[in-house]
Amino acid sequence: MWALDIREGDVLVMKKEHPGCGSNKMQVLRAGADFKLACSGCGRTFMIPRSKCEKRVVSVLRGDADLNG
Ligand SMILES: [Zn+2]
Repeated sequence: MWALDIREGDVLVMKKEHPGCGSNKMQVLRAGADFKLACSGCGRTFMIPRSKCEKRVVSVLRGDADLNG
């Protein structure tokens, strides 16, 4: 188990690319029990449960920092 510190404005690097556009980066628009994410490639937004999201995250980018220590 690992808990990620994910906040609004962070960019998540996902394990899998977004089908269709090929981007694996998602910006966090809203963080709560569900995350609202916007794809960096195509701009589509969608909701995903936090638990599901965390399993798919490789790295969290905040500003210039890579929090995946
Ligand atoms: Zn996309």
